[in-house]
Amino acid sequence: MVPVSRVIVLGAGIAGHTAASFLRRWLGRQHSVTVVSPNGTYNWIPSNIWVGVGLMKPAQVTFPLAP
Ligand SMILES: Cc1cc2nc3c(=O)[nH]c(=O)nc-3n(C[C@H](O)[C@H](O)[C@H](O)COP(=O)(O)OP(=O)(O)OC[C@H]3O[C@@H](n4cnc5c(N)ncnc54)[C@H](O)[C@@H]3O)c2cc1C
Repeated sequence: MVPVSRVIVLGAGIAGHTAASFLRRWLGRQHSVTVVSPNGTYNWIPSNIWVGVGLMKPAQVTFPLAP
C-alpha cells in the first residue's frame, strides 16, 4: 500500500520517540511514520540512571535500529 502521507521524525531521542508514538496512534494506517537517527542504536535514556548505579547493563537500555 502506498502511504497517503509520509511523516519523517528527525532524531530518535525521547522527543522523537514520543512524537512518533503519538503520530502512530493518531494517524490512520494509510499514513507512514518513520524515525530517522544518525545512530545505529536507540538508547532508552530514562533508564540510564540504573546503568550508572550498576543495576542495569548498557545492553538492557540500548537497542539496534533497522538500517
Ligand atoms: C549527562 C546527562 C545525563 C542524563 N541522564 C539522564 C537520565 O539518567 N535519565 C533521564 O531521564 N534523563 C537524563 N538526561 C536528560 C536527557 O538526556 C534529556 O532530557 C533527553 O535526552 C532530551 O531528549 P530530546 O529527544 O529532546 O533530545 P536528545 O536526546 O538530544 O535527542 C535528539 C536526537 O536527535 C538526533 N539528531 C540531531 N540532529 C539530527 C538530524 N539532523 N537528523 C536526525 N537526527 C538528529 C541526535 O542524534 C539525538 O539522538 C541526562 C542528560 C545528560 C546531559
